[in-house]
Amino acid sequence: MTKQTFLKKSMNKKSFSNSYQEYLEIILRIYKEKENKDDYISNIEIATQMNIKPPSVTEFLAKLAKEGLIEWKKRKGVKLTPKGLDLANRVIDMHHLLEKFFSVVLELEDKDLKHRLACAIEHDLISEPLLAKALERSIGKVEKAQGKQP
Ligand SMILES: [Zn+2]
Repeated sequence: MTKQTFLKKSMNKKSFSNSYQEYLEIILRIYKEKENKDDYISNIEIATQMNIKPPSVTEFLAKLAKEGLIEWKKRKGVKLTPKGLDLANRVIDMHHLLEKFFSVVLELEDKDLKHRLACAIEHDLISEPLLAKALERSIGKVEKAQGKQP
């Protein structure tokens, strides 16, 4: 394998896991906003949220279903499986932790920027529990210094 093919391969693998987490995060966000929790989430809803074309969504959903992360009913849409829900929750928790870190420790105010930054790095961080702990610690220190914590 040439160095270039290797790089390309590892990058594809990485971007696959990043984007499936991105899909799960979006599916969970749509699900949380639904009034009827029995409703399936359609390709179109996902495509609109992600700002991409429905056929690319369909292609990706097939992969997620194969990984056992979603239950997919043709013509109805998708639902997260317990495994998918668990991973989606971990991504969203990390997303919130990062946004909090950006606000409290880095004092960033731009909401859109914080959201984009969190989405860009949350995927790498969910496999680094020590880093999550470190983020929590530094948030705690700053809040304590500001008198926000007992
Ligand atoms: Zn995110």
